[in-house]
Amino acid sequence: SHFSQLGLSESTCSVLEQLGFEKPTPIQEKAIPMLLENDPTDFIGLAQTGTGKTAAFGLPLVDIINEHDSTTQALIMAPTRELGQQTAQQLVTFAKSKKGLNVEVVYGGADISRQIKALKRPTQIVVATPGRLLDLIKRKAIKLENVQHVVLDEADEMLNMGFKEDIDEILSHTLDNRVTWLFSATMPKEIRRLVKTYMKDPLEVSV
Ligand code: AMP
Repeated sequence: SHFSQLGLSESTCSVLEQLGFEKPTPIQEKAIPMLLENDPTDFIGLAQTGTGKTAAFGLPLVDIINEHDSTTQALIMAPTRELGQQTAQQLVTFAKSKKGLNVEVVYGGADISRQIKALKRPTQIVVATPGRLLDLIKRKAIKLENVQHVVLDEADEMLNMGFKEDIDEILSHTLDNRVTWLFSATMPKEIRRLVKTYMKDPLEVSV
């Protein structure tokens, strides 16, 4: 199959062509049409790193976000600074043709005042590690009231790293009617519990 058959916009498809992405990976083929549905649903993707999972959620997100609205509309949580940076980098690339769509990445262990300053600019997509994100929420440096999409990337890793409470608290600051997309390599009981607490009738795909 081809990216153009998955429901992505022409401009996103042409960016993919420029990037040399010739055909979707299995997780992309399954996830992208579901995540682009007009009637948005919660989603679970069981996929490891290297399967193309970032593009599986990143491409639909870039198409869904309104770049003319300067508020933060999507929040991606990642377990580590490295993953956060890689994810943000991919999103920036995918959004190349959408002028005005800005992505920011925030993580612990770095100067918070710089991050606060960066978040004062229009930032439609925020990629964050949970601890630093919670800190920024408490300092009112980030507003989540317009966040429609929350992505929990490598959810099992985030729980392994002890971010359960931070995730709980962050999600309590988001809209009840937000959409949640969870990606995880494994599905231990703790993830099932998270799914039960925070997600509604999720569609599930495994690769
Ligand atoms: P990920 O699993 O999201 O970490 O992606 C692994 C790597 O594969 C990244 O460097 C992507 O840019 C690349 N990639 C993802 N999807 C495709 C695709 N359909 N065709 C070619 N490369 C891809």
